[in-house]
Amino acid sequence: MKNDIKEVLFSEQDINKRIKELGMQISKDYEGKFPLLVCILRGAFMFLADLVRKIDIPMSVDFMAISSYGGKTDSTGQVKILKDLDTSIKNRHVLIVEDIVDTGLTMDAVTRLLSTRKPASLRIASLLDKEERRLLPIKVDYYGFKVPNEFVVGYGLDYEERYRNLPFIGILKEKIYRKE
Ligand code: 5GP
Repeated sequence: MKNDIKEVLFSEQDINKRIKELGMQISKDYEGKFPLLVCILRGAFMFLADLVRKIDIPMSVDFMAISSYGGKTDSTGQVKILKDLDTSIKNRHVLIVEDIVDTGLTMDAVTRLLSTRKPASLRIASLLDKEERRLLPIKVDYYGFKVPNEFVVGYGLDYEERYRNLPFIGILKEKIYRKE
């Protein structure tokens, strides 16, 4: 698996350190607000699991599974809900937990949908922010790391369902996804 990685961008230690900082910031910002963290499956499962352990205020979690139609390494912004939330978000302080914001099309669709349910507030925490690819002005309120315009995998992020279990984040060699 590691042979398929061109370059490691963030090590396990880098990620742990950064998530600890994010957890502290989120704990401070949401003190007394009992936030609901909404994990976008599947890519954000590892980020959520580590992040919540660094948050030291009362909070709850829920999960949403979406699929975006599109190419193998690009999204189209057309989002299909595969699993909706079990919790009502009306009047809740909702923090979406995402793996990566790229063009912003996915987060635009998700935030528009969740806004209709009248949360008290709605913000985005994304482990990675690929800002230079943005097509829509999505604001990432909490981000772990900015990434260059490369296809990255590991720490929850996949390519065709593989590489999610890598403990670090790295750039996938192009020959893996440009096989055809
Ligand atoms: P957007 O709609 O912002 O263009 O894309 C968001 C989704 O595309 C992410 O949730 C993720 O599933 C996928 N994505 C975008 N860039 C990458 C990347 O570099 N690596 C992986 N594994 N997925 C990506």
